[in-house]
Amino acid sequence: MKLCPIEQDCAFTHCDEKYKILPAMEAYETKYCKGSEVAECIRYKLSDKFGKLQVPSNMMPNGLPLPGTHRRDWTTVALQYKRYVENKDG
Ligand code: SF4
Repeated sequence: MKLCPIEQDCAFTHCDEKYKILPAMEAYETKYCKGSEVAECIRYKLSDKFGKLQVPSNMMPNGLPLPGTHRRDWTTVALQYKRYVENKDG
């Protein structure tokens, strides 16, 4: 099993218990944090490129905010990088 190198320091894997119970969250952890797609995680890419302080605490590995939260407090760097990744990959 490949574990994300910044897992210990990642807000997603230490997010509130109310999110942990969502089935999708376990799937994200399996796919990204403990799986083969660590390098595809937008949190990981953003941290690697701009530093961990630019990673919003409520951003999921796919770059969307946690359910019921919003992007209002995200930095311009985080917002622009998510758009950049989407356009590059899409
Ligand atoms: S959410 Fe992304 S950055 Fe955080 S531990 Fe999982 S793969 Fe790593």
